[in-house]
Amino acid sequence: GAFYCPGQGLSSCCSFCLTSQWTCPTMHRVKQQLTERNPGILPSLEDLLFYTVAEGQEKIPAHKFLTALKATGLRSGDPRLKECMEILKETLKKTPDGVTLDRHLFKKCVQSNIVLLTQAFRKKFVIPDFQSFTSHIDQLYEKAKNLSGGQVADYIPQLAKFSPDLWAVSLCTVDGQRHTVGDTKVPFCLQSCVKPLKYAVAVHDHSTEYVHSFIGKEPSGLRFNKLFLNEDDKPHNPMVNAGAIVCTSLIQVKVMSFLKKMAGNEYVGFSNATFQSERESGDRNFAIGYYLKEKKCFPEGTDMTSVLDLYFQLCAIEVTCESASVMAATLANGGICPITGERVLSPEAVRNTLSLMHSCGMYDFSGQFAFHVGLPSKSGVAGGILLVVPNVMGIMCWSPPLDKLGNSVRGIQFCTDLVELFNFHNYDNLRHFAKKHDPRREGGDQRVKSVINLLFAAYTGDVSALRRFALSSMDMEQRDYDSRTALHVAAAEGHLEVVRFLLDACKVNPVPKDRWGNTPLDEAVQFGHHDVVAALQQYQENYNPADGSDKTSNEKNLDSLL
Ligand code: GLU
Repeated sequence: GAFYCPGQGLSSCCSFCLTSQWTCPTMHRVKQQLTERNPGILPSLEDLLFYTVAEGQEKIPAHKFLTALKATGLRSGDPRLKECMEILKETLKKTPDGVTLDRHLFKKCVQSNIVLLTQAFRKKFVIPDFQSFTSHIDQLYEKAKNLSGGQVADYIPQLAKFSPDLWAVSLCTVDGQRHTVGDTKVPFCLQSCVKPLKYAVAVHDHSTEYVHSFIGKEPSGLRFNKLFLNEDDKPHNPMVNAGAIVCTSLIQVKVMSFLKKMAGNEYVGFSNATFQSERESGDRNFAIGYYLKEKKCFPEGTDMTSVLDLYFQLCAIEVTCESASVMAATLANGGICPITGERVLSPEAVRNTLSLMHSCGMYDFSGQFAFHVGLPSKSGVAGGILLVVPNVMGIMCWSPPLDKLGNSVRGIQFCTDLVELFNFHNYDNLRHFAKKHDPRREGGDQRVKSVINLLFAAYTGDVSALRRFALSSMDMEQRDYDSRTALHVAAAEGHLEVVRFLLDACKVNPVPKDRWGNTPLDEAVQFGHHDVVAALQQYQENYNPADGSDKTSNEKNLDSLL
């Protein structure tokens, strides 16, 4: 039979999955089994995790655990799971078949990281249903893959060599859930995507006030490498070359080590060849440098040519799509790297950076991008787009062909489609999102709460509570993880009045099936509630599923109540 603790965080009986006692047969059995063996002892988190993964078996093959882990979005290489993975490897070596773990061995492996693992399996991460989310991402990836327009930058050979077919998307959530699709392990240069990062380092290192005594905060309305300053003879903002060069002169710390920390110690390299080529072909940047020097834009005592050298070097820093998604996630997470937990940047530095990315990050497309996508982002000439969904995730898109304004063709398509599907736009309304998906936990939590209240009222036979819910336009047909509805619960408990209210007033579907295929009628029969059986049979005879099917159950509720 089904023996599976789903870890959905539903209610308040099972201390692991928190599934409610009237809907969680699993917890019932887990408790039974454990108390048979150890009377009086409550299951530990490790035991509950074991039963979740084992699905009724006595032993778990390691790959089953790893597959289940991957489905939560966690990677086995996550630094936060280091102990668990090391002990797992050692433990497996000592088992007879090198593969399976019993409950005792499993416990030994997971206990050092049990908090993180429990969070993952209890779906407490920001994107609880990670697999369904990533399958959408993969679809968007495939769609953009078919695009063929755009030109690969060719002003230096190190960029010209890239195939126009390269295309990669990686994401990392603020809880360190990872997903990656396409050419995500190929190193490429950050180029202008480094501008927001070094600006963040500069603000972190000094202060907002100090940095902005040298650089403005306003979109320039001009090409990124224009030789032009604002009315105060300062660069317009840190996302255009003039501003980024001045910003480079403010940095005293080791930028590379900051970048490495932002990337959670994943790949950050350096292309010396790109650096040399950038310097050789960098006449415009030299011109800007001299102009900035003439206008006294640098702090006193600055050696302009060595600033330019550092500027070119920073452009030539290499990342992979994967490692850069962690950098973006550090920005999404207020400056704390999600996979190491280390604070890299101050919240203020991150907020400033996101604000400027939002208004100035996409060259001369910035305004339109802010309008259509509504998310902070920065693109670079190598084809990268660093995209941040604040408090949710960081994304790196990479594909070398660029449109006329210098943004990655596939990247722009992906970002646009992403926000069309999910309510990630800064000004998407998070409460009433009629057409878009909200993959975030809060939404899920609210649903979970309302399902708990609904099923609890049905369980206790509280018709007046149900009336209130219906009036507040709660979905009276909603299901818990086991696809149980209020009608199932009321039928099983023999609450005829509740059953009638749900059917008469709320016009709920009388024949929903739960995950075991049972209808409310089956429940009433099983528990011998003959009056409920009779009522349900009568409804089923008259039930026409097409009736009012164009209305949501909320609308049906209101129809019957007002
Ligand atoms: N190396 C380029 C420059 O400084 C960067 C171009 C870019 O990515 O926007 O002009």
